[in-house]
Amino acid sequence: MSRLYKTEGVVLKRLYTGEADAIIAFCTPDRGKVRAIARGVRRPRSRLAGHLEPLTRCALMLAEGRSFDVVSGCETLDSFPALRSDLWLLSWGLYAADLAERLSAEGVENRSLFRRLVGALDALDGGVDPALVLRHFELHSLACSGYLPELWQCARCHRQLEATTNYFSPAAAGLLCPACRGQEGLDRPASVAAVKVLRYLARHEGPDVARLKLRPPLARELEDLMQGLVTYVLDREVPSARWLRELRAAYRVEQPNGA
Ligand SMILES: [Zn+2]
Repeated sequence: MSRLYKTEGVVLKRLYTGEADAIIAFCTPDRGKVRAIARGVRRPRSRLAGHLEPLTRCALMLAEGRSFDVVSGCETLDSFPALRSDLWLLSWGLYAADLAERLSAEGVENRSLFRRLVGALDALDGGVDPALVLRHFELHSLACSGYLPELWQCARCHRQLEATTNYFSPAAAGLLCPACRGQEGLDRPASVAAVKVLRYLARHEGPDVARLKLRPPLARELEDLMQGLVTYVLDREVPSARWLRELRAAYRVEQPNGA
């Protein structure tokens, strides 16, 4: 008989297989990314169906399997209803889930990444400015996986950075002073205000983050800087980041709240 275990998970994505089943990818605290088969989940009377929508946080009972584990029980702990009822919020939540999916390894404990993902979904659901939530999540989820960028001193010459335009370099994993600015096309100017916000986000949590106000141009600059780093670390763009850009273009709007 296969061994059963309990854990908690956030549904990252569902892949359909066969007529009635789905493979679900979860972010869990103790086993990192877990992929498990949910049998019969597409049948109308499935007792699992309502609990396994993307971004749901649930209590899980799983049976260890050879290639995939099997979901044997599941109960919703938080469905983040406000996030789910708004296309923008949902898209941002899915972007956070995508990033967590890329940064987590299967079977490798990553409690801080799990906690960060739940925190980000909670903040989006609670109405915190998505621009703050996502930049905070990007910085800290990268940090959980060993990629916290250097924000205080030059990542090359290690001198203290001055209050002037410095350069954000994904390849150097942080900020560069004007003298060390690389020739690589990926390095981008980072304004004094942007550096200040990144440092603040790196050192603050919860209500301290929520109370920041970002003007749209600064929000856009921060998004560009962090997207450059995320894309570099993952070696490709997160698909939902592209989807967010397309959504923005299709509706010809600035993202609400300047996210
Ligand atoms: Zn330098």
